[in-house]
Amino acid sequence: MNYEPVIGLEIHAQLKTKTKMFCDSKNDSDEKHPNVNICPICTGQPGTLPVANLEAIKKTILLGMALDCRIAEHTFFERKNYFYPDLPKGYQISQYQAPLCERGELNIKGKKIRVRRVHIEEDTGRLFHDPKGKYSLIDFNRAGVPLLELVTEPDLHSGEEVRKFGEELQMILRYLGISDADMQKGQMRVEVNMSLRKSGEKLGTKVELKNINSFRYAAQAVDYEIKRQTEVLEDGKKVIQETRGWDEVKQKTFSQRTKEEAQDYRYFPEPDLPPINTKDLGLEGIRAMLVELPSQRRERFKKLYNLPEHDIEVLTLNKQLGDYFEKVVSELNAWDKLSHLKKPPKEHEEKLIKLAANYLITELAKLLYERGTGLEEMDYIKITPENFAEFIARIYHQEVSSSGAQALLKEMFETGEDPSVIIEKKDLAQVSDAEELAQAAQEVIAENPKPVEDYRKGKKESLQFLVGLVMKKTKGKANPQVAREILEKELS
Ligand code: ADP
Ligand code: MG
Repeated sequence: MNYEPVIGLEIHAQLKTKTKMFCDSKNDSDEKHPNVNICPICTGQPGTLPVANLEAIKKTILLGMALDCRIAEHTFFERKNYFYPDLPKGYQISQYQAPLCERGELNIKGKKIRVRRVHIEEDTGRLFHDPKGKYSLIDFNRAGVPLLELVTEPDLHSGEEVRKFGEELQMILRYLGISDADMQKGQMRVEVNMSLRKSGEKLGTKVELKNINSFRYAAQAVDYEIKRQTEVLEDGKKVIQETRGWDEVKQKTFSQRTKEEAQDYRYFPEPDLPPINTKDLGLEGIRAMLVELPSQRRERFKKLYNLPEHDIEVLTLNKQLGDYFEKVVSELNAWDKLSHLKKPPKEHEEKLIKLAANYLITELAKLLYERGTGLEEMDYIKITPENFAEFIARIYHQEVSSSGAQALLKEMFETGEDPSVIIEKKDLAQVSDAEELAQAAQEVIAENPKPVEDYRKGKKESLQFLVGLVMKKTKGKANPQVAREILEKELS
């Protein structure tokens, strides 16, 4: 390609706090009734005074620390003046000259993306327009909800990098409990600024992509825009500065608004809020809230558990899942406490961990998705890590077959009961007992002369058929491997 795509992101995330940014109205993005979490302050009544939410400030600093930002010593709020019906005060309290955090970085696939700034502001209300155009309604529940804004340097170069960056940031926000960062719910929003240039030339005219509600779509929109802008330039035309949206159905970006002039927001320091000396906030206390970040955890898991990259990706998707996995592993490591079954030899440790990881990210995930939640909802899992470990131990020792294991896990998932109780109750124990299986094998042989004869004539596939009949006779409880061996012996 002749042109180099240059991309910078502006990302907003609603902070997870009890109350709003400047008043004590509830911060609840799940509230369905309009205008219930409001008060004179967040609806912009004259004569009211804002008070800054310390929890929101601390959480923003925490993100700054996670991204290795410089935390401002002195900072203050400013008014960003503009008129829009969803903004009751006629200005948004934001930060301009002195953002709380500056000059950080986030690594994606080993590539460093510079973070220009992270600052705090407040969200706006929401407008609902009558489809017939007769009226508009407004809900102020969201007005004044604490919002952080992160701006990157123009260090990204493809749709894929945009997706990676967004998803990594989303994970960090969730690991740290800063934001739920659900894009469908509007808790996290991305604006993509992008332009093309010939290498070595200065930055081209930028186009802003907005109102895109997943990072996957953002990546598609970017890739589409790269093609579109390339064609414009190849045709000898100029890219115009505008805001574009993404049409999922047509798989195209479309123009939403062309920018005539840069708006003048007449920023000035907010006179109703005192400036902040971050030293007074107990920075060490905030630093202590840092947890192992997704990238650190991936590294550690790789070294410690020697799992395939994909498994590690899934296990670290959210903190709860990784925590759960590690609890299961530590239960397996305390085998003697866990199970009366024979302790596996040292060289099988890895196999056991792999078994646990597999059942977590495939079978347990399946049950969670069937319930409509998915791996994010680990908090509500009824299965204790100890019971999960015991479940793995029983699979390892072939006490249950693989189909038995699925039935067992489903029951554990629904009831939270001990695997031993369920195995007993549901009669799920796999039969590996040679005598018991020999009896079934002999019966099958006696009842099916044709396949037996075929087998003896050399048609080896018939054996599989006979194994199936033994399985059927034992109501699926026979250990298929043992059944096969016994059939072979009986037939010879
Ligand atoms: P604005 O004030 O118009 O929002 P900023 O300079 O604050 O613009 O930058 C906003 C975001 O856009 C940043 O992430 C920045 O890296 C990116 N950006 C700025 N100019 C360009 C450009 N010409 N091409 C691509 N990205 C750009
Ligand atoms: Mg901007």
